[in-house]
Amino acid sequence: MQHTERVTKILTRLAEAYPDARVGLDFTSPFELLIATILSAQCTDERVNIVTRDLFAKYHGPADYVATPQEELEVDIRSTGFYKNKAKNIRACCAALIERYHGEVPRTIEELITLPGVGRKTANCVLSNCFDIPALTVDTHVTRIANLLGFVQTTDAVKIEFALMDIVPKEQWNDFDRLIITHGRRTCIARRPKCDVCPIRDLCPVTDPDVSRY
Ligand code: SF4
Repeated sequence: MQHTERVTKILTRLAEAYPDARVGLDFTSPFELLIATILSAQCTDERVNIVTRDLFAKYHGPADYVATPQEELEVDIRSTGFYKNKAKNIRACCAALIERYHGEVPRTIEELITLPGVGRKTANCVLSNCFDIPALTVDTHVTRIANLLGFVQTTDAVKIEFALMDIVPKEQWNDFDRLIITHGRRTCIARRPKCDVCPIRDLCPVTDPDVSRY
C-alpha cells in the first residue's frame, strides 16, 4: 500500500474516532493564537491555556505588550518556562507587527517567519487554524507519530514537513495535523500507547508488521 493511500485511510478512521479534534490552545483571534503558540514551546497546551486566560484579559493587542516592561511580562508568563526569552520574543514580535503590518497578523509563511520568535511550526499553526490555509504543523506528536507510522525517518521538523507534503493530499494537511495531534494526546500517547483500542492498529507498523514502512 502506498503511503498516500494509507494516510487517507488513517485520516478517515481518525476523523470518525475524534470528531471534535481541534488545536489544543485556546484563542479568539489570530493574534492570540500567535502569542499562545510562542508560549507553547517546551510547555503543555494545558499550562499555556491557564496562563493565557489571564494574559489575554490583560493584554488586548500588540501595543499592550510593547508598552509593558519586559520584567512585568516575564512575571505574567513565568510558569510557561523559558519566560525571559519568550517575553523578549513576544515584545519584539509585537513591535514588528505594529511597525510592518499595522498590528495585524500576516497571512503568509514568508512574512510570519520573519517575526521574532516565530518559526515554521508557529507560522503553520496560525495559517492552518486561523486562516484555513493548508499548512502542516510539525509538533512533538506529529514528529513521533509520523515516524512510528513509517512515513518519515527523521526528527528534523522541516524535513518532516516537506516529506509529509508529498504524502498527504494538500486538502487534508490541516485535518492531518488536528487528527494526528489529537491521536497523540488521547490514544497514541508517548511511552504508553493504547494499541489495544487504537482505531488504526491494522494500519500501523508497530502492531502489524505487514504494513509497509516504505
Ligand atoms: S497501534 Fe499503537 S503505536 Fe500504532 S498508532 Fe495506534 S496507538 Fe500508536
